[in-house]
Amino acid sequence: MHWFTAVFLVALALATAVRLWLSRRHIEHVAARRDAVPAEFSEYIALAAHQKAADYTTARTRLGVFETLAAAALLLGFTLGGGLQLLSEAWERVFEPFGLYRTFVIEARFGFNRMSLALFLADLAKLAALGALLGIPLVFLVLWLMARMGSAWWLYVWLAWVTFNLLLAVIYPTLIAPLFNRFSPLEDADLRARIESLLAKCGFRARGLFVIDGSKRSSHGNAYFTGFGAAKRIVLFDTLISRLAPPEIEAVLAHELGHFARRHVWKRLALVFGASLGLLWLLGWLIGQNWFYAALGVRSQGTAMALVLFFMVVPVFTFLLQPLASLYSRLHEFEADAYAARHADARDLVRALVKLYRDNAATLTPDPLHSAFYDSHPPAVARIARLQAHQA
Ligand SMILES: [Zn+2]
Repeated sequence: MHWFTAVFLVALALATAVRLWLSRRHIEHVAARRDAVPAEFSEYIALAAHQKAADYTTARTRLGVFETLAAAALLLGFTLGGGLQLLSEAWERVFEPFGLYRTFVIEARFGFNRMSLALFLADLAKLAALGALLGIPLVFLVLWLMARMGSAWWLYVWLAWVTFNLLLAVIYPTLIAPLFNRFSPLEDADLRARIESLLAKCGFRARGLFVIDGSKRSSHGNAYFTGFGAAKRIVLFDTLISRLAPPEIEAVLAHELGHFARRHVWKRLALVFGASLGLLWLLGWLIGQNWFYAALGVRSQGTAMALVLFFMVVPVFTFLLQPLASLYSRLHEFEADAYAARHADARDLVRALVKLYRDNAATLTPDPLHSAFYDSHPPAVARIARLQAHQA
């Protein structure tokens, strides 16, 4: 056995075992607390809602167990089992843009439980058209750079990738997002005045305050900022407005402003671009190593095969970095909460969070290790305790 085959198998076994172990802990932890609402929440969350959140969490985590097992089996089948080799022989040089599919199709498919089939198909058609318009030229550019730029191609691909992403971020608010949702100016005068005074207090300039019809896809409420510089827009989901009182919406926005004031968007972008530079450099090196193909059960070498293999195998290794990424994200959430507590009323943010936890059936009692591994947001109890400490 090649040493890299052994490393790959150990990493896959480890990642799968850790996933299954975390899932089991999480299910047991939530089940053991199913019959009592945590004391901090007992005033606001009914036992039935708490149990619904527990059952929802359990159902999703259980599905995740099967998904983990299926993914590991599929990955083994494709690599060592010879599946990729078979595919490549049958399909020679046909390059499937897996990354585009994941970004543009899967994202649309999940979590949109209010979506009608017609809307789903319309979204799909728009996404496919967008994917073709933006993605196909990018894929050709990447393949061309890989073929033409010699051994430093990965640097050029990285520059193209960064430029593409920045361009996308610039055109998204005005050209892409309106294809999927209707943007209307916020009409509620009281709420508008409240938000404008908050923005003035925080020294934040935005071009426009919009409401979108998020309710046609999902019942989840949300608020976000898009765009750069003076072109920033504030977008509130109609579902958020219908659920939260104006002071609570103000507190949620103050939290989002905290992400901006602390430059979280830029920090995250820098991290993602840095990581993708590292990965592309690694790919540039692996692509020329015979053992990389051989150790993973593939005989045909080449750009497309290396890309497919690389993107299949890399997550097995990067999975083990997940807790660090989650920790970084949770630190940002605490910072944004602290900012919100300074510029709005922390009690309003607590009330808004409790409502959102309840309406999204998010569990209040996650397994601490599961949460440390995966969660981008701190557990409800920790988050609310910190907000209350800011208040005191
Ligand atoms: Zn946040």
